[in-house]
Amino acid sequence: MITEVVAVDPETPEEEAVARAVEVMGRGGLVAFPTETVYALGAAAFNLQALDRLYQVKGRPKQRPLIMGLDSAAWIYRLAVDVPEAAVNLAAAFWPGPLTIVMKRSDMVPDIVAAGGETVAMRVPGLALVRNLVAELGMPVVIPSANLSGEPSPHDAAAVLSGFDGRIEMVLDGGRCGSGVETTLLDVTSDPPRLLRRGAIVERDLLRYVPDLEVCV
Ligand code: AMP
Ligand code: MG
Repeated sequence: MITEVVAVDPETPEEEAVARAVEVMGRGGLVAFPTETVYALGAAAFNLQALDRLYQVKGRPKQRPLIMGLDSAAWIYRLAVDVPEAAVNLAAAFWPGPLTIVMKRSDMVPDIVAAGGETVAMRVPGLALVRNLVAELGMPVVIPSANLSGEPSPHDAAAVLSGFDGRIEMVLDGGRCGSGVETTLLDVTSDPPRLLRRGAIVERDLLRYVPDLEVCV
């Protein structure tokens, strides 16, 4: 397989580049692209074959669930059940942005995305590119970091290619991206909600919406 590299502006993405990537993901292909944190390796979140291949290509253990990238918070009412008010307020405050929220999953979320668990992790990414990909595809895109499992997360297309050249269909090259800081991971399935991973959204800001936040890290 030849990995196609397509230049893109991640803030004001060219329609042509988005359309080509959507066409690839729509037929089950894997496309790497920048997010505001690191490059992600994307696949259509409801395409079981694509998801299976994503785990294989990354060498990712199947018990490790994937984050779903959304184009709007409206998706949480389809992908999650028992959505707590805190989640709605957090989404309104921090999306688009580097906050990943874990909720109880609905039947719409494939088992493989949840790694067989009862929850799903979701966020609306800060870059217009990722939101446009989801919007044009018409379904969420899973967005694990675009590195082989155990390797450092990539911040440019060259680093993505060093792991995946010839093994994925496309890289959208948006130049160097990412704060270097991961998304903050917050689980709202428990009461009080739990901070699972520190990241770009700091605790002080979360406490305004989740005053009883339990810090597990
Ligand atoms: P990455 O491995 O780069 O995709 O980072 C995603 C992080 O989110 C990993 O630490 C995952 O374990 C975590 N994650 C994804 N889904 C869930 C979930 N449903 N519950 C808790 N953590 C999750
Ligand atoms: Mg990773």
